[in-house]
Amino acid sequence: MSNHPNLRADLALRDGYHSPQVDVSVRLNTNESPYAPPAGFTEALARSIGDLGLNRYPDRQAVLLRSAIASLDGVQPDQVVCANGSNEVLQAILLAFAGPSATVVVAEPTYALHSHIASLLGCAIVHLQRRADFTIEVDAMIKEVNASNAALAFVCSPNNPTGTLEPLESIQRLATETNAMIVVDEAYGQFAPRSVLDLDPAILERVIVVRTFSKTWALAGVRLGYAISAPSVISGISQGLLPYHLSSLTQAAGLAALETAAAMEIRIEAIVEGREEVAAGLGDLPVEQWPSAANFILFRPIERSADEIWQQLVDKGVLVRNCAGWPGLENCLRVTIGTPEENAKFLDELGAALT
Ligand code: PMP
Repeated sequence: MSNHPNLRADLALRDGYHSPQVDVSVRLNTNESPYAPPAGFTEALARSIGDLGLNRYPDRQAVLLRSAIASLDGVQPDQVVCANGSNEVLQAILLAFAGPSATVVVAEPTYALHSHIASLLGCAIVHLQRRADFTIEVDAMIKEVNASNAALAFVCSPNNPTGTLEPLESIQRLATETNAMIVVDEAYGQFAPRSVLDLDPAILERVIVVRTFSKTWALAGVRLGYAISAPSVISGISQGLLPYHLSSLTQAAGLAALETAAAMEIRIEAIVEGREEVAAGLGDLPVEQWPSAANFILFRPIERSADEIWQQLVDKGVLVRNCAGWPGLENCLRVTIGTPEENAKFLDELGAALT
């Protein structure tokens, strides 16, 4: 199939993007929650299923879900749009605000899907390089966005896969010193000490914040993400979505999850604590690491091959993300924060592999 003569040659994601789905006991490779959704979630979802009326199309406006998300994040329902995972939100943004011949700017290394979806749509992409510490050179980015008359610029904060948290001032400057729409991907925002949503809400005329239920909310399997912005921007993004794109089941799952917000807050604290423990453990090993505000840490074995270490970890039942082949991330691995037991097992096996 993959070399069918009619297939677009530019479709494939960069080699090595997809993390292998290896059957191991400790899976720390895709930044999911290590915990199943809380017990209350399954009960709330089960209770609502009987009333969903699945013979009918879903609520196209997802009114209840958008209202519940809006009250969680302190905005109005018309400032929220939901889709099947934040990947679909990103696609809708690109469809609505970019498209063929538009330019989008990304700061590499970053989440590959931003430029991948843009290239599927025929956008021109400007790939800026981050500094060695993976922060964005904001002056250079502003200059590039203006020089290329970019429609969209992406800031992933905390950045996947480096964990870097962008200063709010950089986002403020990008929004006020360029004409582009600034997409701030906060897929990991709840693990970070600050969010764009802390800024003056007027910034949302020029900024789109993207969030997901896949991490904090322990619902990667449900596929639910959303964007927050000004109402006119949100109705623009909706133009990039198919009618009835969000199933009644997905909407119900999101609503059930939001009922467990208190349990989620406790879990976020536990993951952040786990992150600090893993960072401390890595600090005792011969690896370089970068500060992370997310639920993962990027690190680089010193004088050892990341490919070999990755394989040794797999052989011991621990799967991390091998980023060694990605430009700008030579010899790097990324570990997702798991349960305390998983974190301890990872640190033990990594320590053993490195000696
Ligand atoms: N943005 C970033 C930065 C991510 O890391 C991910 C998941 N890997 C996503 C968006 C997509 O998440 P989802 O589609 O599961 O919401």
